[in-house]
This record gives sequence, structure tokens and C-alpha cells, in this order.
Amino acid sequence: MAKSIELPLVGAVTTEEIRETYKQLKQEGKKGVFIQTLGCQMNEHDTEKMLGLLKTLDYEPVQSILAADLILYNTCAVRENPERKLYGQINTLKQLKEQRPELIIGICGCMTQQSTALQRMQEELSHVDLIFGTHNIHRLPELVHRVEAGERIVEVWSEEGPVVEDLPVERASAVKAYVTIMYGCNQFCTYCIVPYVRGKERSRQLQDIVREVEALTATGYKEIMLLGQNVNNYGKDLAEDITFARLLYALDAIPGIGRIRFTSPHPKYFSRDVIQALAECSSVCEHVHLPIQAGNDRVLRRMGRRYTRAQYIDLVAQMRQAVPNLAVTTDLIVGFPGETEAEFQDTLSIVTEVGFDSSFMFIYSPRPGTPAAKLPDQIDEESKRDRIHRLIEVQNKVSLQRNATYVGNEYEVLVDGLGKEPGLVAGRTRTGKLVTFAAAPDVVGQLVQVRINKANTWSLEGEQC
Ligand code: SF4
Repeated sequence: MAKSIELPLVGAVTTEEIRETYKQLKQEGKKGVFIQTLGCQMNEHDTEKMLGLLKTLDYEPVQSILAADLILYNTCAVRENPERKLYGQINTLKQLKEQRPELIIGICGCMTQQSTALQRMQEELSHVDLIFGTHNIHRLPELVHRVEAGERIVEVWSEEGPVVEDLPVERASAVKAYVTIMYGCNQFCTYCIVPYVRGKERSRQLQDIVREVEALTATGYKEIMLLGQNVNNYGKDLAEDITFARLLYALDAIPGIGRIRFTSPHPKYFSRDVIQALAECSSVCEHVHLPIQAGNDRVLRRMGRRYTRAQYIDLVAQMRQAVPNLAVTTDLIVGFPGETEAEFQDTLSIVTEVGFDSSFMFIYSPRPGTPAAKLPDQIDEESKRDRIHRLIEVQNKVSLQRNATYVGNEYEVLVDGLGKEPGLVAGRTRTGKLVTFAAAPDVVGQLVQVRINKANTWSLEGEQC
């Protein structure tokens, strides 16, 4: 799953605040770092790790590039748009670099791991001082140190690095925490660049994950999101006989553990023991994000997804039998090469048949280096746009129907921030539904009971019980 994170280049701060931040940092002998994060939760968490590592060099996160001494772009290679965005934004920094030559500009993340993209960066972005990849993030302090001393560095490892434990992490939230359980992916779905840029699957040791989650729970974190490209394949590469289900039970047994979520599992590897763990572990939330990608068997086969429509439907039925109030969300791609109108209709109908609570819906975009990019029968842009609009329309209807079933009932909501309007706060049910309701800001970080009064397409509205 990959969603684009829109961090503003200049955050919601005034020029006066920027000047004040910059002055204060200098008085304290500190420096400012601004990281622009594109892509999925894995990238968001990598950014948290980079901020933690940079803190050891006295870099503090700032809300604006104008208060930054170091600007990093944590890139995504999954779709085309982040690449366009990167070049658009990084070219605008040329002038800033001319005015302040000591400013360090860096690029990291998945895009740097692609040889053609890396070559283009080196040729076209001469004002960039530092380029590093996804396998050597732990080396960031040394790399920055050398750039500060005047070097221009490109350090991208083509081979997977070691699984490095105990990196400092500067977390974006004090309520919800990301915990990576495995790196890389072995699946090689034909449209996906991830196995080429994140390497093969490497699982963290179970005891290291448990230790991290224990520490987070002890410091008050109420929700843990387990991250991996293919989480239910967790443990297959470890010497001991450890499975994803065993990990869930081990985490569920931590005293005081709040909520556990995970993303993303692969339907092919969603075994009975994981379904049982979903039902038996009280901390594991009643929500599974289960990417299906397409509703037609021929398209699924050409995508290399290794399951059929019927198998997916059966899997969801088994899950719902074990966890009756389960919310199921998914990823969908339209316009995969060769997708006919009739095959697209199968994707439309699966949304209604499964009753997805919501979906991340994407237009297929060829990624250089993947088998699907070389397929001859690419779909024209107009048809792709038409299909995505029709898909969104169907999904929105289904989402609203699913949300309507919440009205009149009470749910536990973990409040994680303020609402868009004054006096409102926002949070999530265990099933992942966004809920807004009126409450004092001091409920942020707490679990509260909320009665739902109104259902919208993407959210619910309610009142505190
Ligand atoms: S499972 Fe497929 S889509 Fe997901 S990261 Fe691996 S290769 Fe990409």
C-alpha cells in the first residue's frame, strides 16, 4: 500500500515564526532539518529513524525549508507522480542553495535504489550534496558529517544491509507508533518495484520486536502499527520456527498493550493460524487491510498475485466468520496492461461483493525495470482515468453503506488529534473508522466511548458517551 504524504514545503507557519525558530536553534548551537516524505508508511517510519539519527548530530526537525540547514527528500518509486513531484520541488531549491551554499540538500528512499533514476539525479541535480539508499540509513550521521566537511556523497548499496537494531527514533506521534517487523519483499508482483528497491525479505528477531513494543507500551503508546511489505510472511527467513501468528500472540501478551494493527498482509499467505490469532488476541484490531489489486483472474495472474478472485472472497468470508465485525480495506489498480472493459467490470463488482470499507485506488503506471512495464498492451490514459472515476464512485457508495451501519452504536475511539473545526477532536475506532466529535483537546491520546450519530463517505460523526 502506498499513499502520498503531502507535507508542505513551507508548513503552516509564519515568516516571523520561521525566523524565530532559526534564531533559537542557532542560539542553542543546533541545526534545523526538514524532511519531505513521499510514499508509504515504511517511508514515514524511515523518516522518523532519520530524524532520530540526526538528533545525535544536533539537528532538530523544523516546519519550513527556510529554517533548515539540511533538507532531505525521502522518495517513493511505486508510482510516477512522486518522481514528478520530486524534480519539481528540488529544482526550486537551486536558488536557495545559491544564496546559502552551506545548506545541505539530500535525496534518499526507494527512488535512489533504481539505477536509471539514480543516474538522472546525478546528471540533473548538481545542487544536491548527498544521495543515499534504503539499505544504509543507519550510516546517515557519518554521511552528513562528511558532507558538512565539504564532500559530495553518493552512497547507494545494491545489496541489502544488515538489520540494524536500536536506532534512535524521533516519532511523529506520542499515541501511535510504527514498528517495522520485516524489510523487503520476495513476491515480485509484475507491476511492483519494491523487491528491486527494498531487497529480499528480512525479518527482525521476535525478541527485538517484543522489546521495542514493550518499551513503547511502557512510555504510553496506545497503538502499534506493525510494518512490512508482506507481514504475514514474517519469520520465514529466520532460523527458529517463528510465524506472524506467533508474533501476534507474543505482542498480545505484553502487559498494558493497547491496540495492534498491521500492514500489509498478502492474501496468498493469510493462513488459518493468523485468522485464529485475529480472533483470539484482544489487542489486535478488527481491521485488515488486504490488498486485492484486481477482481479478475486473468489480470491477477498477469500481475503475479498468486490467488484467484474466489480464493480471496473465501478468505474474507473465513476472516469475517472468525471476527464478525471485521472491517476490510484494500488496494485496487485500474488500467493494468491488457485489462479489458469486461475485466475492469470484475474489479467494480468485487468492491460490492466483498463490501470493502474503503480502498486505496490507483491508476496503473509503468515502473521501469518491472515486467509489466514491458507488456505491449498498455491502456491509454483517458480509459484509465475513466475507469478510476467509475471505481471511486462505486467504492464511495459502498463505503457510505458500511459506515451507515455504525450509526446509533457506541465505539471505542483512540483520539489522536484535533478535528478540522474548532471544538472538535478526531480519532479512530478499532475498525479504523475516522470519527470526529466535540470534546476538549485534553482527550487527545485517550480512549473514549463515542456514540455515532452520522455517517459520511470517509468518516463518522458522533458524541462522547
Ligand atoms: S507483495 Fe507484490 S505488491 Fe506488495 S510489495 Fe511485494 S512485490 Fe510489491
